[in-house]
Amino acid sequence: MRSARLGLAKGWPARGSLPRVLRRLTPNSFGQAGDGRERALARHVLATTPSGDLDAVIAAIDEFAYQKAHLINVGDEKGAILDAAVRSAEPRRLLELGTYCGYSALRIARVMPPGARLVSIERGAANARIASRILRHAGVAQRVGVVVGRLDDGGATLARLRERHGFAPGALDFAFLDHGKEEYLPDLERILAQGWLRPGSIVVADNIENPGVPDYLRYMRRHQGTLWRTTEHHTHVEYQHQLPDLVLESEYLGIRPD
Ligand code: MG
Repeated sequence: MRSARLGLAKGWPARGSLPRVLRRLTPNSFGQAGDGRERALARHVLATTPSGDLDAVIAAIDEFAYQKAHLINVGDEKGAILDAAVRSAEPRRLLELGTYCGYSALRIARVMPPGARLVSIERGAANARIASRILRHAGVAQRVGVVVGRLDDGGATLARLRERHGFAPGALDFAFLDHGKEEYLPDLERILAQGWLRPGSIVVADNIENPGVPDYLRYMRRHQGTLWRTTEHHTHVEYQHQLPDLVLESEYLGIRPD
């Protein structure tokens, strides 16, 4: 029974069990925890929040993650870092890699300027359906597009972004990376190869310390002050205030190091 299994997660994680907890956070090949918690989240949000109440929907997801079952979205603490980065960038066109259940897309939509549009890419169709339901319920579906795909699929998703979502050279103001950790750097390089970033574009990347994205961190440190200017935000793992994590906020300078 999914509900019974979810019930076991109440109050979780217990102190002293954090390494085991982290293994349990690793998503399956569908990008889900595997016990139905993502569908349970959608039911919880739709049952407990008024339609169109964006703040209430975000709060309900945080409440679910703290009290019912852990979620691998960016969470409230790191979400505030994301909010501040979006606010200061004042972006018009935004890209997210890793929609999951739509939590960070909701946060981004809450603070992005009027008229801005976010496209969020999710590899798992089931997650994309859940996120779309939640985004519609929160009243932001007109400003957030969810695309099922991945940037390493041979060019199909890149083409869709170009042809249907207005991605063009210099047109991407802000990107948030929160998908497969081994995909951050290759996907950033795909975005760079498209020429979508302009000097001043901002790229925020989650989970750099935990579970860790060492190649991306090395890349940003190597190009500090030349191709990128990165601020390292020392913070904590989503909904785990004892476990450290690192969020990188990188401004594209557009200057080649050589
Ligand atoms: Mg994350």
